[in-house]
Amino acid sequence: MSAQLQCRFCQTPLAHTFVDLGLQPLANSNLTRAQLDAGTEQRFPLHARVCHECFLVQVDDDVPAEAIFDQDYAYFSSFSPSWVAHAKRYADAMAERLNLGPESLVVEIASNDGYLLQHFVAMDVPVLGVEPAANTAEAARARGVPTEVAFFNEETAVTLAARGVRADLMAANNVLAHTPDISGFVAGFRHVLKDEGVLTFEFPHLLNLIELVQFDTIYHEHYSYLSLLTVERVLQANGLRVFDVELLPTHGGSLRLFCCHVGSGRGETEALQALRAREAAAGLDRIETYLDFTPQVEAVRESFRGFLQRAKSEGKRIAAYGAAAKGNTFLNYCGTTADDIIAAFDANPVKQDRFLPGSHVPTYAPEKTRELRPDYILILPWNLKDEIMGQLAYVADWGGRFVVASPRTEVVG
Ligand SMILES: [Zn+2]
Repeated sequence: MSAQLQCRFCQTPLAHTFVDLGLQPLANSNLTRAQLDAGTEQRFPLHARVCHECFLVQVDDDVPAEAIFDQDYAYFSSFSPSWVAHAKRYADAMAERLNLGPESLVVEIASNDGYLLQHFVAMDVPVLGVEPAANTAEAARARGVPTEVAFFNEETAVTLAARGVRADLMAANNVLAHTPDISGFVAGFRHVLKDEGVLTFEFPHLLNLIELVQFDTIYHEHYSYLSLLTVERVLQANGLRVFDVELLPTHGGSLRLFCCHVGSGRGETEALQALRAREAAAGLDRIETYLDFTPQVEAVRESFRGFLQRAKSEGKRIAAYGAAAKGNTFLNYCGTTADDIIAAFDANPVKQDRFLPGSHVPTYAPEKTRELRPDYILILPWNLKDEIMGQLAYVADWGGRFVVASPRTEVVG
């Protein structure tokens, strides 16, 4: 099977492993008691490879689509106040930068429940959302955001353009990495974007994943792990180019790329040139850099296993905070079970009173912490470490302490 695999962008046969995380259940498929007892949980290979031609890091597409859609969550972006605030800052900045007004049009791809476009609507800037999920599209319309239910690709884009849809600004934030056919997706934008229109992409930066050993951000529905280097090649192949970049703190370090038609008059910024130089200095254009990743991931696992062994031998009780995708990749790669971690706490009601996929650690509302009084709380969403330590500061009442596992397992705070 693996001999046949080709790069999802440039079709080069994939000859190199980035990291093989073994057989893993889908990271968002938390189990009910009945599902756990039925013993029918499925696991799929989670193997990230790197293309030695274009350096796209990519996960094998081994999961049948129906398994992905069977997961019991519908993600409404507006549930996260910090995400809505992030979207508002973006809308304010772009409206000013591009001088958007009642004659403009903003088109967002994967516009979810209108969490972003609502801010442009409030400024009287016309908008159009394109969203594949009917239920979230309906929620967007209910808040006054016109939304098409469609998967975005070149065919969809040509249809929109034929109807006269021409955008001053297009946004596709945190969707590029989740798109199996990255080139077919990017091919759509040039049809809808005005000649001097601007397109922005946001995605977690591969350089952070490598430098901070963030392998827990790898999961089945996250098909591509992106650098500026590779995205510039994908854009170039589709008549587009980058002219500016911003570094964002979201998802452990993301890039926001500002892009335009290849023939646009926009000049390149110093920030863009500096980031290109930084990626080159880090070796992102050499295959050896990527081949060094697996030993570092193994070292994270050894460090965590060593901590578990010591803590358990001292009779300590260890719990975890966070029941989202990120933690599950980590726990399952480390072979963690409910014997190691007595419970996981999560503020999202959808994640409570269930069992984590693979590890089968029981999950509860955060209030349960006071009852279980664990000695250690492993913070799985390390990017929210400070926020979580603040919320759970009361664990100090019984001597509880916090632990993070990356890049080495250590007790913090
Ligand atoms: Zn490639």
